[in-house]
Amino acid sequence: MMFHRIGVILCGFFGFLVVSCGRSPEIYQTAKPLMGTVVSMAVVSQDAHQAYEALEAAFEEMARLEAMMSVFREDSELSRVNREASRHPVTVSPELYRVIELSLHISQITQGAFDITVGPLMNLWPFDKNEKKLPSSQAIQEALSRVGYHHVVLSSKDRSVFFSVPGMVLDLGGIAKGFAIDQAVNVLKGRGIAAALVNAGGDILAYGTKPDGQPWRVGLQHPRNSQDLLTVLTMSDQAMVTSGDYERYFLVDGKRYSHIVDPRSGFTARATASVTVMADSAAFADGLATGILVLGPEDGMAVVESLPGVHALIMTEGSDKALVLHVSEGFSLPLDEASLAVRGVQIKAWKR
Ligand code: ADP
Ligand code: MG
Repeated sequence: MMFHRIGVILCGFFGFLVVSCGRSPEIYQTAKPLMGTVVSMAVVSQDAHQAYEALEAAFEEMARLEAMMSVFREDSELSRVNREASRHPVTVSPELYRVIELSLHISQITQGAFDITVGPLMNLWPFDKNEKKLPSSQAIQEALSRVGYHHVVLSSKDRSVFFSVPGMVLDLGGIAKGFAIDQAVNVLKGRGIAAALVNAGGDILAYGTKPDGQPWRVGLQHPRNSQDLLTVLTMSDQAMVTSGDYERYFLVDGKRYSHIVDPRSGFTARATASVTVMADSAAFADGLATGILVLGPEDGMAVVESLPGVHALIMTEGSDKALVLHVSEGFSLPLDEASLAVRGVQIKAWKR
C-alpha cells in the first residue's frame, strides 16, 4: 500500500514519469441484450481489470432497473404498483419514484403528449400480438377513461404512488431505458472511469473523450433505410435519444402504426417519422423524444426551443415519401441539402 502511494506521488510529480508508470488509456467494450435491445458500452481506462469490473457493474445496474421497471414482468416493482395503486398508496423504491416524478414533469412540458399512463392503450393496440386487428372506437374510449397523468398522485413524504382512477396502468417503456443509461453512467463514473459511451439501441450517453482526445462519434440512422446513415455526429458530455416509428410498428392495409400512442386521442402517433433529442440526461431526452414524436414538428419544436440545453432533429415524411428535416437552433448537423442529395437521400425541405 505504502509503495503504491509513493508510486502515485512520483508519477504526479514528474510528469514524464506518468507515461512509464501507467499504461496508456485504451477503449474496452462489451455488449449485452437488455431492455429489449442490445446495449453496448465503451469505457476508456488504463487498466483492463478496472474497465471490465466497471462494465460488469454498469450492466448489472441496468439489469436491476429493467427488472424493477418492466411492464412485461409480473414480478417487477412497476407491475406491483399497477396491481395495487388503485386501492391504496404504494411506497416505491427511490429510483422508481424519481422516474415517475420526472415522467409527470415531462407530461407537463409536452402538454400531455408524453404520458406514462398509456398502459390501457398499449394493451389495446396489437403491438405484440400476431393478429393485427384494430381496436373499436368504444374500446379506445373505455381505455382513455383510465388514461391521464393528472390521476397519478405522488407523495414524497412516504414515497408513494396512488391512482385516483381505478384500472390505470403505468408503462415506462418511453423513459426507463434513458434512466437506466443515466444510472449506468453514474456507476461508471463512481468507479473512476473518466470517459465512456453507453449505447442502448441508438439511445446514447457519452462523456469525456476517446483516448486520442477526440469526441465520440455516433451515426444518425435514416428512418426509412436502416442501412443508411444520414450523417455522423460528434458527442461529449451529452445524451442523444431517438424515438422513431420504424423500430417497433405494425402494418394494416399498408398503413404504418407506430408503438407510440397519442394519449389525447387514443390512436397511434402518425405525424412524425423520427425525433432525435440531445439533452444533459438520457432519461429526460428519452421522455421528451417520445412526447415530441406525438406532438409533431410544429408543437414539438416549440417545446424544444423553450428548453435550455435541449436540441432536436425531427423528421417527417411527405406524401411523396420524401423526408422533411426540421432542425432546432442548437442542433449541429454536419450536413447540407447538397451533400444529402449527392448521397441519394431524398430531402424535401430543410427547416430551421
Ligand atoms: P423505443 O422503445 O424505441 O426506445 P420510445 O422511447 O419512444 O421508443 O418508447 C416507446 C414506448 O413508450 C412504447 O413502447 C410504450 O411503452 C411507451 N409509450 C407509448 N406511447 C407513449 C406516450 N405517448 N407517452 C409515454 N410513453 C409512451
Ligand atoms: Mg422515449
